[in-house]
Amino acid sequence: MNKVQKKIYVITGSNKGIGLGLVENLCKRFIQNSNFESTIFATTRQEKLGLESIKALSEKYPTVKNQLLYHQLDITNNESIAKFVNHLKTNNIKIDILFNNAGILIKDNNDKSNIEVSKEVLNTNYHSVINLTNELIPFINPYGHIINVSSKLGTFMELSKLIRYRFDNEKITMEELDTLEKEYYNAVENNKEKEQGWLNDFNWPNSYCISKVFLNAYSRQLAWKLLDQKIRVNVFTPGWCRTDMGGSSATNDIYQGAETGVMISEMEDNDDFTKSYCKYYASSQVADW
Ligand code: NAP
Repeated sequence: MNKVQKKIYVITGSNKGIGLGLVENLCKRFIQNSNFESTIFATTRQEKLGLESIKALSEKYPTVKNQLLYHQLDITNNESIAKFVNHLKTNNIKIDILFNNAGILIKDNNDKSNIEVSKEVLNTNYHSVINLTNELIPFINPYGHIINVSSKLGTFMELSKLIRYRFDNEKITMEELDTLEKEYYNAVENNKEKEQGWLNDFNWPNSYCISKVFLNAYSRQLAWKLLDQKIRVNVFTPGWCRTDMGGSSATNDIYQGAETGVMISEMEDNDDFTKSYCKYYASSQVADW
């Protein structure tokens, strides 16, 4: 008989897009495998949207509705994080899989200066992920898994040689990342992003690409830090998906986008953590950073 799987998933930004795709794909897995008695904590910053989405999912997948839980969570808001943490503490809930999915991309920055946009995007896509993850680590079970949703736009190979080698270092420290962040803001303020190697050739806002570069580098150093606690960290790109962020011309739907994340979350618990050290996945395969 197959082992009963009783894992607790936490997913940020689950009311739409890839986050919703992750919740739905997991619901479908639970339905296909009656031994999957796992629970999903869907979280959203807008409670109304979150509750509506949970209601719709419970109606669509009635047999697993008891495996769907909800909590409000704005990853940029410390009070909201504290309430979620308190909920976990009070109810003695431990997490097995944390999907850091919530993210923003600012296209139209007519009202804000470039530096304001860069700081806002890095604040959500990078600093808030670090902050939330730090708060949740005490609740993550051994053999748990932190899965960060990143992008091909944030891979190191897309950076200019000038700065690529500084990010592409699996033992990069947070101090080095802080220095790089200051240099990046300096380049933005002085309009020297291209000259100093911070621009890539993608036709997407650079602040978004750079936020994912920082997220990737942070994920690798976090994996080393959590080795002794036997918590794994991995990163994936959903590919270009039809969401509010990706737009309607994108190639993948949200379910295709979420598939790689679900696959990573189902990887076998592995005692040899040096082998399962942080990797970047695209289209369900390990890819180059
Ligand atoms: P999306 O449709 O715009 O959804 C983003 C989700 O993040 C929404 O639920 C949004 O909530 C939530 N969010 C934003 N700020 C938040 C905050 N402060 N606290 C909590 N939730 C917050 O975008 P998506 O395409 O699904 O993107 C999801 C992830 O996939 C992102 O990390 C993105 O970078 C990554 N990604 C997407 C693509 C693509 O082609 N779509 C490609 C590569 C990577 P609201 O509804 O309240 O705004």
